Amino acid sequence: MSRVYNFSAGPAVLPEEVLREAADEMLDYRGTGMSVMEMSHRSAAFDRIIKEAEQDLRDLMGIPSNYKVLFLQGGAHLQFAMIPMNLMRHGTADYIVTGHWAERAWKEAARYGKANCIASSKDENYSYIPDCSDLPISPDADYVYICQNNTIYGTQFHTLPDTKGKDLVADVSSCFLSEPVDVEKYALIYGGAQKNIGPAGVVIAVIREDLITDEVYPGTPTMLKYKTHADKDSLYNTPPAYGIYVCGKVFKWLKRQGGLAEIEKRNHKKAALLYGYLDQSHLFIPTARKDSRSYMNVDFITGNADLDAKFVKEAEAAGLSGLKGHRSVGGMRASIYNAMSLEGVEALVAFMKDFEEKNS
Ligand SMILES: *Cc1c(COP(=O)(O)O)cnc(C)c1O
Repeated sequence: MSRVYNFSAGPAVLPEEVLREAADEMLDYRGTGMSVMEMSHRSAAFDRIIKEAEQDLRDLMGIPSNYKVLFLQGGAHLQFAMIPMNLMRHGTADYIVTGHWAERAWKEAARYGKANCIASSKDENYSYIPDCSDLPISPDADYVYICQNNTIYGTQFHTLPDTKGKDLVADVSSCFLSEPVDVEKYALIYGGAQKNIGPAGVVIAVIREDLITDEVYPGTPTMLKYKTHADKDSLYNTPPAYGIYVCGKVFKWLKRQGGLAEIEKRNHKKAALLYGYLDQSHLFIPTARKDSRSYMNVDFITGNADLDAKFVKEAEAAGLSGLKGHRSVGGMRASIYNAMSLEGVEALVAFMKDFEEKNS
């Protein structure tokens, strides 16, 4: 068996310890004689799995008791609709459009009410985060929406926008649990699991309780009301049980590493190593503006599409996988999520140095 260094943007690398544990428990989960995949979601064993996962997440993020944790499905994309259906009570919301996913969320919200784009960085292909210190927040906005880490463009909010008292909603799919978080600054934090937390198929939403009501957009399906899931502790219907189980293992792994403060330190170290090299390279050019750089997704180009393709191909052959950039930016993207080791980033930088020497 040989594992590559997996720089894929998502689904993405998971801690090897977690995969090994899941493998060990595959045929017989702790004396139950069955896999978690084969287990009733109403069983005592699964009840423990989901409750422990929630508690570990609460411990890691310091989630206050007036916030609910929901395990949902439908990807981040379904949240693009659920958020306006549930939260746009007065029919207006403000969106800060910093990339493809924020744009999708904004356009989806426009189906349910007045969705204003109050700031955008589309003018420079989303290569930066706009100044959000004094935005024209709509007086009647039900919430202000951001995509906190822009997976495709490699940019990240390092300061949250001043929402002038309005509720903040954030898509943290690609930076979930990458650094300590002050949950109270948000009304709703959500993300798909497949970037930094677990396998595809699980979406986690951390939502302030007062936002969970029956006052939703007319015609909202039962399954798309937060209240449906909150009232039944994410067990209204069959949840993505195996995915939740793996997420729970990742939460325990994060606790063993020392929690979010420690993982942030490691993430900063990895990013500093890669950006540090990029900043002095004569071949590779980082594409995100310096003050907006993501700690999770590092985008770079050579300026020559053929050379980019050669790099990706040779890197793949050297065991550095998933480095091809998204088609809307081109070039390369190294996703260096929590589970990517410092050794992996060191191997990438060593490969890049060697490639630069041979190709300049
Ligand atoms: C990947 C991603 C999405 C889309 O997620 P799906 O699970 O495919 O719906 C949305 N937002 C961000 C920030 C992402 O990285």
